[in-house]
Amino acid sequence: MTSSVFTAERLLFTPANPDTDAIPTIFAFPNEYGVGITSLGYQVVWATLAMRSDVQVSRLFTDTHEQLPRNPELLGFSVSWELDYVNILNLLEFLEIPIQETSRDDSHPIVFGGGPVLTANPEPFADFFDVILLGDGENLLGNFIEAYKEVRSASRKTKLQALAQVPGVYVPSLYEVKYDAPDGAIQSILPISTEIPAVVQKQTYRGNALSASTVVTEKAAWENIYMVEVVRSCPEMCRFCMASYLTLPFRTASVESSLIPAIEKGLLVTNRLGLLGASVTQHPEFETLLDYINQPKYDDVRLSIASVRTNTVTAQLAKTLAKRDTRSLTIAIESGSEKLRQIINKKLHNDEIIQAAVNAKVGGLTGLKLYGMVGIPGEEPEDVEQTVAVMRRLKKAAPGLRLTLGCSTFVPKAHTPFQWFGVNPQAEKRLQFLQKQLKPQGIDFRPESYNWSIIQALLSRGDRRLSQLLELTRNYGDSLGSYRRAFKQLKGQLPDLDFYVHAHWSTEGLLPWHHLQGPLSETTLRKHLADAMSYSDLIAMSK
Ligand code: SF4
Repeated sequence: MTSSVFTAERLLFTPANPDTDAIPTIFAFPNEYGVGITSLGYQVVWATLAMRSDVQVSRLFTDTHEQLPRNPELLGFSVSWELDYVNILNLLEFLEIPIQETSRDDSHPIVFGGGPVLTANPEPFADFFDVILLGDGENLLGNFIEAYKEVRSASRKTKLQALAQVPGVYVPSLYEVKYDAPDGAIQSILPISTEIPAVVQKQTYRGNALSASTVVTEKAAWENIYMVEVVRSCPEMCRFCMASYLTLPFRTASVESSLIPAIEKGLLVTNRLGLLGASVTQHPEFETLLDYINQPKYDDVRLSIASVRTNTVTAQLAKTLAKRDTRSLTIAIESGSEKLRQIINKKLHNDEIIQAAVNAKVGGLTGLKLYGMVGIPGEEPEDVEQTVAVMRRLKKAAPGLRLTLGCSTFVPKAHTPFQWFGVNPQAEKRLQFLQKQLKPQGIDFRPESYNWSIIQALLSRGDRRLSQLLELTRNYGDSLGSYRRAFKQLKGQLPDLDFYVHAHWSTEGLLPWHHLQGPLSETTLRKHLADAMSYSDLIAMSK
């Protein structure tokens, strides 16, 4: 691919003219251009840097790049997908920068990272980064750059020590992790000196203007889409859900002063609009927003909504979407079992799922995609049978509506009350059971690979001993077999795969992210876990 991709871009901001002594910076997305430029997070951080005259930023993707500075001082990565770590290592090599931060010296740039993957649990990737930005970027990024400017000519060591003082800036090498044994439990995680904060607090932005696209291009994976963030986080707090727990509190963009002006600006350059957020329809003024988009002047606008809460699917919403070129809707039901939904704190009843399907059909949509999970803590085989039963009921209640069930395996995520649970090995069989039951009913069943869930769980609960394993796995390929092979090779140097993936961890132990404070304290998360357990004898959780 040539740099012509950049000429197809329509910018919605004005880049600054860099000062002569601007900080030469590379801002990378560790995947292809089409994927990276579709990430709202990447777009916004890049534009923020490009609007500063004290930074000269060039973009880097795996398949293309702008003209890169010969001696960058800062190299940033926006990480949205766990397995992209392989591309981070490849790009470091491409730039002739040592992969391990311990091998870098004063001639190398400060390698920083941010984004959802690193904010959730940066520890498996700790050895590859000098600095990790935890939390919302709005104020954090500017504070980081300002602090860097203060120590720009200092040694690498001094720079890192100064940067570690900025709230939300995590410098992994300044924390020492001790273990009971090389392959044993974590004993302590402490800063190497008293000047370094013992706990790094993830940053929360509290303004009422959320993000919006800074660039629109036909080369994006979602061609020509203009995205606006309608809400951040989700107030529902399903006990497994990182999209809610990691980004609390729930925040909504002001319709009057933020969303409408942003949409007006975006729709001047495209007619494709995406409303983003973990629970878009939960915006208290969602109806007002919909009415605004429903104006005749926007009749040709194609609308996509990232997430719709099941009990907000009204016939009116379905009608609006059908009119705007959306054929089907996705709702997350997690399970057909009311008991399991109680355990996970999902306030949804089977009757509401049926009503959503009826409304979708009445409104003119042709399909409904449901999203479920197997292996939820407390799940018994009967619960999976109930999912089959609900799908059968839906078929009867909304005949002709194309039904799809996408299904993943429960994966524990850091900073959620279910972080202590392991992956249920029975999940694979349960996915096969659903496949067998639903196919003959004419229901399209789309399971997510069980092996991929195992790898996700490993990265999601990993500690920094995994860094060496990830480097090794990279040479073997990205299958689960490659990870197993690397574990075998490193036997005795870190716990085994089962410990990270399947074991239920004691709530007394030290978590790998113990020193990284999320929105809620560990005590609160334990309380939410206890609430969940009160619904069921979770001793049966590993069944
Ligand atoms: S409703 Fe969806 S986004 Fe909200 S907490 Fe539950 S799973 Fe997460």
